[in-house]
Amino acid sequence: MGKIVKVSGPLVVAEGLSDAGMADIVLVGAERLRGEILTMTGDRASIQVYEETAGLGPGSEVVTTGSPLSVELGPGLLGNIYDGIQRPLEEIRKLTGAPLTRGVDVPALNRSNKWAFKATLKAGEKVEAGDIIGTVRETSAIEHRVMVPYGISGELVEIKSGDYTVLDVVAKVRTVTGELADITLMQKWAVRKGRPYRKKNLPLVPLQSGQRVIDTLFPLAKGGTAAVPGPFGSGKTVVQHALAKWSDVDVVVYIGCGERGNEMTDVLTEFPELTDPRSGEPLMKRTVLIANTSDMPVAAREASIYTGITIAEYYRDMGYDVAVIADSTSRWAEALREMSGRLEEMPGEEGYPAYLSSRLAQFYERAGAVDCLASEKKPRKGTLTAIGAVSPQGGDTSEPVSQATLRIVKVFWGLDAVLARARHFPAINWSSSYSLYLDNLRPWYDAELGADFSLNRVKASAILQEEADLREIVKLIGQDSLSPADRLTLETAKMLREDFLQQNAFADIDSYSSYDRQHRLLSLILQYDELARPAINAGNQERVFGIAARALISRAKTIPADSYVNAYEKIARDLREQLNVIAAGGTAND
Ligand code: ADP
Repeated sequence: MGKIVKVSGPLVVAEGLSDAGMADIVLVGAERLRGEILTMTGDRASIQVYEETAGLGPGSEVVTTGSPLSVELGPGLLGNIYDGIQRPLEEIRKLTGAPLTRGVDVPALNRSNKWAFKATLKAGEKVEAGDIIGTVRETSAIEHRVMVPYGISGELVEIKSGDYTVLDVVAKVRTVTGELADITLMQKWAVRKGRPYRKKNLPLVPLQSGQRVIDTLFPLAKGGTAAVPGPFGSGKTVVQHALAKWSDVDVVVYIGCGERGNEMTDVLTEFPELTDPRSGEPLMKRTVLIANTSDMPVAAREASIYTGITIAEYYRDMGYDVAVIADSTSRWAEALREMSGRLEEMPGEEGYPAYLSSRLAQFYERAGAVDCLASEKKPRKGTLTAIGAVSPQGGDTSEPVSQATLRIVKVFWGLDAVLARARHFPAINWSSSYSLYLDNLRPWYDAELGADFSLNRVKASAILQEEADLREIVKLIGQDSLSPADRLTLETAKMLREDFLQQNAFADIDSYSSYDRQHRLLSLILQYDELARPAINAGNQERVFGIAARALISRAKTIPADSYVNAYEKIARDLREQLNVIAAGGTAND
């Protein structure tokens, strides 16, 4: 047993802990507050405490639990709201009347709920770690697949379907050494270590978000990484909600590190009210929320991204597509900075510890498209996509957290306060954003949408770039200096911005756009450009911009999902007719 020698905010230094190891969870003081050993020299340990340390002082007792910070994995995770060290906030509130009370110890997974376990294997079968032995219907959205925990393999000697709590033994495995290993619906995992998989693969399938600017211009792959910086009011929350609602993933883990207490409360009240647009059911049926407000201890905030990503890995291991959204990693990094400062470590840039980048990398590295851990004969694939919001002070992305993030992630959606002010939503800036998955995703695009999808994407980007250049010229020497061809480029760029990139998250039809629909809509706009070139050269500018089919394109996003294919084809025919007439020297109405 150790004794405290010093208390500094969330950091406690204790001596006499010769029986403890690095990264052990310890119980501090009479209230047995949980803490984690950060560094150790001899029997002296620096401990970050996950709760308010008021009242602790030199002489208070510290005992080690002998195990590292771990989470409970099993049915009951979905729909739950946890703090950074997986304390169930609702349960605690019900028990104590307050959201978080010091020293209350409520298990993460409910101990009395019974789950109907359906065995899918029989006694006598050989199993390896990761193999699915049965299922539980966790929510109406997700079937929970019960896996043999890591480190166990052998022969299944007993397994029975029935109603069980998370601690009941549902199966027994005789391991190679002859011992009997009990399998329960719940397993534990130390959060700071990634859960194992068989093999990591290149991410080759897009995460379909239904958001045109994302899917067509800056796509994210399932198993990939993305960052989205959000200056205040730029639509960061709306983008995150759209991703959580529409992405074609099975499970979403949302990690919220709020700025101010009430900002997180917004998420806590908003998220449970979102409905899953595909099923009409609450989105929480396939969501786990990790919540930290600024009034919660910083140490728990530091731990939250590991807790969140471990839960996400667990569902990935079942063979699901999972997305983790961390909002915001800047607040997380500030927690890291505060602990580092109290440890009196040598500060790096802007006071952040020198290991900021490697810690961020460790988080994003846990994303990936994998062959899950399982017997070779029963292969399974899963993906974990990691999306991190960054909220730099004043929107300045030259600061350390943004810079470190940009070196790691492969997609960057640059939310832009200027676009937001101009009511261009989603306010993702097309010149500063990028995706490094385009080459990986190309075969998928070619097979699913045809080779012209990628060609169109290149053309659209080029036109938007050209628009930026032309605007510079117009600023210098005026609109009149532009050739008819340049004017057409500006017109097409305007259509790309207004009729394609702008997307109203609150409009029923427009809030989601399938890849096929995005492809067809973009083709229409580019067809207009292509057919209008000869017509505009014939000197009929006003008529080219004024044709009826062009006006139809501007309303094309609002055509219902069941009739857009025919409608778009009709617009394409009209375009051809009307523009060919003009090119031939007549008027569209001839
Ligand atoms: P932030 O979280 O960055 O402070 P929000 O996500 O709350 O900003 O967005 C601010 C406002 O911008 C929203 O209330 C909404 O009116 C508007 N907005 C953002 N994105 C969209 C969108 N895709 N479609 C329509 N309106 C949007």
